[in-house]
Amino acid sequence: MRLEKSQDFTQLFSQKCAEHGLKITPQRSAVCAELMKAKDHPTADAVYKRVREKLPNISFDTVYRTLLLFTELGIISLVEGYGEQKRFEPNLHQHHHFRCVKCRKIFDFESDTYDQIAVPKEARNYGTVIHKRVVLEGVCARCRRT
Ligand SMILES: [Zn+2]
Ligand SMILES: [Zn+2]
Repeated sequence: MRLEKSQDFTQLFSQKCAEHGLKITPQRSAVCAELMKAKDHPTADAVYKRVREKLPNISFDTVYRTLLLFTELGIISLVEGYGEQKRFEPNLHQHHHFRCVKCRKIFDFESDTYDQIAVPKEARNYGTVIHKRVVLEGVCARCRRT
């Protein structure tokens, strides 16, 4: 799915909830609001800590279930896993990742060149490609300095 930069994340959220007959609860809204601000591909735990500042009574379980629900609805997606905790991706624009192998931060970047990379025959043999992302691994500028 390619979204216009200006498209409101909360608008997508309300639209998806309406489509699926889901109530817009304060919990869901709070999780949505935190995701909209998140630039760090947060874990469920990180989202939970942020949401708890606004809704002190919310449980980790509710936050986790909400994140999985949002993923199912296509409001967010999951970052490709590396055998670590699940990390959530609120950026639905076509983009690529630079992943720091030291601090595990994941940085988004856009590249027309990478968007246009053709899928090789060897990969097409496995099935139909529905999404394509280039993941670069390295040591980020901050980690290189320390
Ligand atoms: Zn780093
Ligand atoms: Zn990303």
